[in-house]
Amino acid sequence: AEPDPQAGAAVKAADRAHVFHSWSAQGLIDPLAVAGAEGSYFWDYEGNRYLDFTSGLVYTNIGYQHPRVVEAIQEQAGRLTTFAPAFALDVRSEAARLIAERTPGDLDKIFFTNGGAEAVENAVRMARLHTGRAKVLSAYRSYHGATSTAINLTGDPRRWASDTASAGVVHFWAPFPYRSPFYSSTEAEECARALRHLEDTIAYEGPATVAAIVLETIPGTAGIMTPPPGYLAGVREICDRHGIVLVLDEVMAGFGRTGRWFAAEHYGVVPDLLTFAKGVNSGYVPLGGVAISAEIAATFDKRPYPGGLTYSGHPLACAAAVATIRVMEDEKVVEHAAHIGETVLGPGLRALAERHPSVGEVRGLGAFWALDLVRDRETREPLVPYNASGDAAAPMAAFGAACKRNGLWPFINMNRTHAVPACNITEAEAKEGLAALDAALTVADQHTV
Ligand code: PLP
Repeated sequence: AEPDPQAGAAVKAADRAHVFHSWSAQGLIDPLAVAGAEGSYFWDYEGNRYLDFTSGLVYTNIGYQHPRVVEAIQEQAGRLTTFAPAFALDVRSEAARLIAERTPGDLDKIFFTNGGAEAVENAVRMARLHTGRAKVLSAYRSYHGATSTAINLTGDPRRWASDTASAGVVHFWAPFPYRSPFYSSTEAEECARALRHLEDTIAYEGPATVAAIVLETIPGTAGIMTPPPGYLAGVREICDRHGIVLVLDEVMAGFGRTGRWFAAEHYGVVPDLLTFAKGVNSGYVPLGGVAISAEIAATFDKRPYPGGLTYSGHPLACAAAVATIRVMEDEKVVEHAAHIGETVLGPGLRALAERHPSVGEVRGLGAFWALDLVRDRETREPLVPYNASGDAAAPMAAFGAACKRNGLWPFINMNRTHAVPACNITEAEAKEGLAALDAALTVADQHTV
């Protein structure tokens, strides 16, 4: 479409007058007015086009406006736009079947929600009712959503303002070799110490009081820290020994992001409950859910499950999920994510680290990568302090602005930038993104010691 700055200005004016935005000081934000999107790109009303290295909020796993999914939503809208959750519907049954066939182990029942936070809320509710216990353990350096229990589980500063209502949540440290909370020097040591710390936490909290451990299989927003070999298997063993439900949150890591349908597959671990959202239908219509083990599902065979949502398994959302999963199969999107990670993104990002002193560590897999930016490679001092804002965060803001000048829309969180494009990004597009990052990192380099 032709640039139309006037139309963009009207969109912006109405937004500023009436839209109250997430996580923001309303008077200090300047949201970009977006005119359209397709595949890995979106564009504004001024004629600027951006390569999206954020996948929206890491959910457009098959890119924007995939014609088959758009068509499936249109077809469903023409046939049956909505219907209440208590009924059996073809499209809902099919979505549940396709998801259950792909989740690991015996996670064969699907409770549908409208997004990730509600999935986490319901997983915790199921775990509490199943065990008859109240407490839930989760990790620092995590994000689980913004509703009451989900935000309490979250291990980043977004939780602090909501800490007034305790939800019986206790935080522990998960492994992170590059910034080890255990002062470990090897991955094996980090794994052993992290498991020992979790054991100790459970012992002091009282094993018989703990309903669930909630973990992102690979923490997303918190920094894409792939767990050391053996860690998740160790957590699984601890849970089994104490009768604790293991909830793996795959809202961000699931549905192809890591080059497998679910990240748990990389570690050979089957949780009791798995939460998903985002990539399940590339975010075209809000949808999330909990995949439930046979044992936990059986708890609610004769006893009603005390939870529900008006739009649980909404037909438009389910139609989008069915079409997305079929597209991912037909176009081998999961295999492509693994391949682009191994052959282009991983090697390309590591090459950037060689050239740029501001890159402290490159970590990730598939279409799920983080660059940990530092002021000093020796000390690993982050490029900006933890939870910095304003002037203290200026080096990251300058880096972000440089990305945008180079046509790349970057994901930025604290001192990190994540390379999290659509899982079906082409090799040429991925290389274009790497080139833009290369140019922008010279700006970050200026802030190193
Ligand atoms: N869990 C994880 C791992 C997430 O990354 C997110 C969102 O970023 C959520 C839960 C919350 O999902 P939603 O924003 O759909 O409620």
